[in-house]
Amino acid sequence: MLGENDSRFFKRLLASFYSGIGNVAPRGISKREFGFGDFERKIRYRHYSFRDEAQLRNYLAKEAPPFVSYSMAEYERPDGKPMESKGWLGADLVFDIDASDLKLKCRNEHPSSWVCSKCLEGAKAETTKLIEEFLIPDFGFAEKGISVNFSGNRGYHIHVEDVGAFKLGGDARKQISDYITGNNIMLTSFFPTIGRRGVRLEGPRPSDSGWGGKLANGVIKAVNSGTSSLMDLGIEKKDAQMLTRKSAEVVLGISTGNWDKINIPKKGEFWANVLKNIAIKQSDAIDRNVSTDIYHLIRLPGTIHGDTGLVAKKVRSFKALADFDPMSEAIAFGAEQIAIRTTKVPAFTMAGTAFGPYENAEIKLPAYAASYLVLKGFASLDPKKAHAASKVEKKELTLEEKEQRARLEKFVADAEHFGQG
Ligand SMILES: [Zn+2]
Repeated sequence: MLGENDSRFFKRLLASFYSGIGNVAPRGISKREFGFGDFERKIRYRHYSFRDEAQLRNYLAKEAPPFVSYSMAEYERPDGKPMESKGWLGADLVFDIDASDLKLKCRNEHPSSWVCSKCLEGAKAETTKLIEEFLIPDFGFAEKGISVNFSGNRGYHIHVEDVGAFKLGGDARKQISDYITGNNIMLTSFFPTIGRRGVRLEGPRPSDSGWGGKLANGVIKAVNSGTSSLMDLGIEKKDAQMLTRKSAEVVLGISTGNWDKINIPKKGEFWANVLKNIAIKQSDAIDRNVSTDIYHLIRLPGTIHGDTGLVAKKVRSFKALADFDPMSEAIAFGAEQIAIRTTKVPAFTMAGTAFGPYENAEIKLPAYAASYLVLKGFASLDPKKAHAASKVEKKELTLEEKEQRARLEKFVADAEHFGQG
């Protein structure tokens, strides 16, 4: 929870950000419901509606809310209460990819609330896979109808605007979600002989459509890339090594639909597990399953995420996603120096500048980096404490501390340079 000084300071930063904001109005703004949060709850107030962009812009500049969400749905009466009285007209299809659902190895290297560059890269790779391997080829959605924005914290939101998808109800959305996450996929539909003794295991070929082709291509790609890629598919080391040793034979087999080149017990379980690892990892929790809840409120692209101070920045195009760096491009606040006291903070990079690691440090950082740490709960902003401490430090600095101070000042100077550039 933020202290009084901290919240007052951030309200000021937010007000300044929202007073100079560009157009963040979603398509069909007058039919959307809006919700707003404070520093404790992401959605504290909902059932708001705005006539047009100017009215929304005025509200944001005046209230400077830490979280701004809008409905994926359009309604006849977006401010109606209860939900049934709103008159649901349809909803965009939205997917939420979050690094915390990806079971990344870096989870063991940093606190769960921290986000490292591997978390962000993992979320980006999953987003790319969702669009390139599912939304475009399997569902036929047009690339120009798909927009991606950084969530503002540890992932990406993928919005699909499609006339056909707009009217889909919760059940149809659940089927889409099940397909991309590999839920309820019947292995027997592409392994007709699986589980039958003494019969050759016939399986999918790379040219097959849907999940069969995906599985064949996924396994071939992993076999060609070696043991560690196979282990990323959830295959145990000894099996992965065996597959790598026999790679030429295995690839040739799968290419012709013969999956019996691989001698594996419990084949059903084995391939089901591999399939799960090729599938998209979305949170299964009902309250977080954005894709299937037709009344869901989601962060408005272009607004700030109150747990990081970063913007839920819209990526220019799907092609631009590969080079998109949220820790540079989603920065909202300036580079003025802010004194903070940190807890234990892993090293991180913002605006191309390396910061940290810190441990109980009293330091000055550019506003964007200081606010990132404070809002994430890794630092506090208490000017009195920081000033008192810096006076004491002046008398007692050891050589090592002086060197560290010099390094820090260089970081700070560089950061300022970047922030203004
Ligand atoms: Zn990480």
